[in-house]
Parts: sequence; C-alpha cells; structure tokens
Amino acid sequence: MLYYSTQRTAPLVNFREATLRGQSPDKGLYFPETIPALSTHFLTTLKQKPKEEVAFEVIKPYTGNCLSDEELYNICAFTVAFDIPLKPITEKIFSLELFHGPTLAFKDVGARFMSRCLSSFSKKEGKKTTVLVATSGDTGSAVANGFGGAEGVEVVILYPSGKVSRVQELQLTTMGQNIIALEVAGTFDDCQHMVKQAFADRLLNEKLLLTSANSINVARWLPQQFYYFFAWQQWPFAEAPIICVPSGNFGNIAAGMVAAKSGLPVKKFVAACNANHVFVDYLQSGKYAPAGTTATLSNAMDVGNPSNFVRILEIYENNFSALQRHVSAYSISDEETLHTIKKVWAQHSYLLDPHGAVGYAALERELVKNNFAAGLFLETAHPVKFNETVTRATGVNPPLPQHISQLLRAQKNAVAIDATYPALREFLLHRT
Ligand SMILES: *Cc1c(COP(=O)(O)O)cnc(C)c1O
Repeated sequence: MLYYSTQRTAPLVNFREATLRGQSPDKGLYFPETIPALSTHFLTTLKQKPKEEVAFEVIKPYTGNCLSDEELYNICAFTVAFDIPLKPITEKIFSLELFHGPTLAFKDVGARFMSRCLSSFSKKEGKKTTVLVATSGDTGSAVANGFGGAEGVEVVILYPSGKVSRVQELQLTTMGQNIIALEVAGTFDDCQHMVKQAFADRLLNEKLLLTSANSINVARWLPQQFYYFFAWQQWPFAEAPIICVPSGNFGNIAAGMVAAKSGLPVKKFVAACNANHVFVDYLQSGKYAPAGTTATLSNAMDVGNPSNFVRILEIYENNFSALQRHVSAYSISDEETLHTIKKVWAQHSYLLDPHGAVGYAALERELVKNNFAAGLFLETAHPVKFNETVTRATGVNPPLPQHISQLLRAQKNAVAIDATYPALREFLLHRT
C-alpha cells in the first residue's frame, strides 16, 4: 500500500515513511492510494473473532510489508488490550465506551499503535526521532503515556495554557524522561499552526528527524477504525447503526468513514460538534470557511479548522451530495451539553462526559429524523477527566480511578513559550 499527499505534489510513500514523516513535504496529509474492500467472509465471521485478530486483519493492508505479521499482530494485541464495551442507555441509544485505556480517552488506541510502530521503525533506521504534537488535551496525555520511556524517540508536546483540564495537564506534564511539555500562551489552533510550520521548515528538518503524533499521522489515524468494528461485533440489531462521533479535528470520524468504505455496515454518520461548527456550516452551504476557535466545555473538540477535513473530501471523492446523504452534523451549545449530562443521569443513571454528551444530544436529534432507527455514539472520554463539568451538571462526583488520584499529587513540569513559530524553532534547535 502506498500513500499520496492530499496536495498531490509530493512523491508516494509506504506506511513506514508516512509514519516517520507525519505530514507530507508539500503540507498535505497522507492518504491511502486505495481503501481495501474487506471480504464478505471477514464481515460475516467478524462477530466471533477476538479483538486483536479483527484489528490485525483491518490494518494489515495498510502497513503492507513494513512490519512482519508477527510484529503487527503484537502491536495490535498491545493496542486493544483493554475493554471497549457497547452499553445500552435507552432502547435506541448505545454508548461505545472508548475510555477504558490508561489515559481514559479514545486517543490511547491510536497513540499506543503509533508508538509501537515508531519504535520499530526508529530502531531499524538507527536514528533518533522527535515526535512533535499539538494537543487540546487528550492527544498529549495519550501520546505522553504511549511513548513514555520509548527508546530512540523524544516527544515534544505543545498545549494551550489554561485551556486543558487539570487532570489532562498533569497527564502530559508529569511523564518526564523522553517527554517534554511546552505550555503555549495561545489557543490549540496556534499550537497546531506552530507544529505545521515546523514540519514545513526545511532547515529544521535537516537537523531533526521530525514526525507528528496528531491524527495527521497515518499510524495514529488508521487504527481508529478498530473500534467501529468492535461496535458492530456488539451491535444487537440486524439493521446497521447510525454512528455519532463527537468531533474536533475529525480524525476519529474520518477513520469510521474509511471502515464503512471498506464494507463495515453503517447507516449514517453524525458529526457532533460544539460551538465550533465549521463542518456543520459546510454541510449546509457547501462552502468551507475555517474560523477561529471558541472555548467550550468539550475542549478536546475546540477546533476551528479541522485538519482531517481534507481526508473526508478524499473519502467521498469530492462528491458533495454523497457526503450530504451519508453524513449529518449538529452544533450543540454548552447549555445543551450540561442539560444532556443532567438529563441522562437523572433518567438513565448514566454519567456522560461533556464530549459524549455532545454526541448523545446530536444523535438524539438525528434519530428524531429517522423513525425507528437505532444508533450509537462514541463516548470518547471518561467523565472523571472533566469532573468539574460533570459535577456542575449532576451534583455527582465521579469516583477517581486509582492512577488518577496518584496523578493529582504529581508535580507539573512544563516549559512556557510564546505562541509563535520562532519561539518553537528556537526551543527545538537550542535546547540541550
Ligand atoms: C480528541 C477528542 C475528540 C475529537 O476527536 P477528533 O478525532 O479530533 O475529531 C473528542 N473527544 C475527546 C474526549 C477527545 O479527546
């Protein structure tokens, strides 16, 4: 399998190179040349297969011969080594709980997969790799955890000062070792922009072997398909589900769309957005108008210019009416988010986190339009990660898992920098 750049002015690369580079040299995103069709046999026997086997078979065409079967199987087994249950909330609404990994959010899946791939490639390359990540919270913690102690890999994480939760900040500033946290005086979009500029900086890239661990990176993005298959394994109806994905950079939903294109039964996708509604507007008008970021309670989705938007255009081959038929999008306010957390707790004793609440509310709106349909939403984070909001909505204090209570006693360790590219460049070139 080869990958092309969505800008179409860079050479094709294999999985290994796409992973090591992160972004293509022409500032595009790598995209697989073909999306493999899964065999009918695979799809009909899927429900009986163990998770790691499903993961292996789904991802194998994408990694090609860059990893041996044994290596890939081990990476897959490590990646999915925690529960991913589908829980009913109502008769029609199910929650796919993606928060049972070490940092309590879905990004653990992609980060674990990518860290193992990168370690293997760096070893073969005999050269140290620097992973550069912009995070609105959860990416950084998942990457810090997934890459902590990985030999031959150094990780530099940029996060917007004051715009991540306390637990998130501690998760990404307390790993130490090969993990460096940069506290940026700006927004997540600023962080993302700085990282993009670093990748486009030829001189810098001659000095450092830089890669990204954002969903820009194919090794983080593509394994996110796994749990859409796990959802289908647990889906109790014959009819395909409507799948609702709380979305920020749109990597997660784009991975689901790839899975559907490969043959996974999905009736429709719903992009659940907070006040950052650039994609909602796009589906209505056909015009994509990136905007600034609005801060919300579901901060991991505060993105004004989603980087995976271009991949969605590739998946739907720029066919706007097909996209409009298969995908809906809703913008959910903070007020409705709080109301949803409160309502679902009161009526169904299910504790949502703010991102899952945006998903639940958007799915409800879509189901109203689709009589008798059933759907699932991705519960992307554990409510305890956002306990201030959850407590505010319900009066309930979600119990702290053991490793989080330990974390709350840890000492934050971050380097403060300005939200400008020269500040980042200076840091990368001149730190010792
Ligand atoms: C990152 C994140 C999202 C958004 O995912 P994208 O792939 O960027 O669309 C949603 N919820 C949580 C909890 C996240 O951490």
